Amino acid sequence: MSINDLDLAHLRTCVDLAREALADGDEPFGSVLVDAAGEVRFRDRNRVKDGDETRHPEFEIARWSATHLMSAERAAATVYTSGEHCPMCSAAHGWMGLGRIVYAVSSAALAGWLDEWGVAPGPVLPLPISAVAPGVVVDGPALELEAEMKALHRRRFA
Ligand code: ZN
Repeated sequence: MSINDLDLAHLRTCVDLAREALADGDEPFGSVLVDAAGEVRFRDRNRVKDGDETRHPEFEIARWSATHLMSAERAAATVYTSGEHCPMCSAAHGWMGLGRIVYAVSSAALAGWLDEWGVAPGPVLPLPISAVAPGVVVDGPALELEAEMKALHRRRFA
């Protein structure tokens, strides 16, 4: 699959959530879950500032889906996210049997920016989703949103 205008609109929401997270002292990541009918069912953004480093929106989505969606609904859902899932979130997504993922910025691109800015890499390898959950259909990056996301991440380390 490729990224269409509707996908871009959902990714735009993710970028807005990332901006909201950064403004609140968290890291600039945001995600939404859209069901097969095209309805946004759940949205969240990064919430790590109080010390729980696992509070990634993609992880929250996977856990939310466990109690709010049947397995067929999970498989038919699409998860949009401003930054490609980390291995923890890829695993949660894979274990829950969620459907397609569409991301704006790849983990490799983000790792490259951190290196460019002299920021130490995080404690978890920036593996692509396909290396952790190979059965998941993944689309990205969305180059239209890359400059905006890069600016948000730059502000995080300014
Ligand atoms: Zn994650």
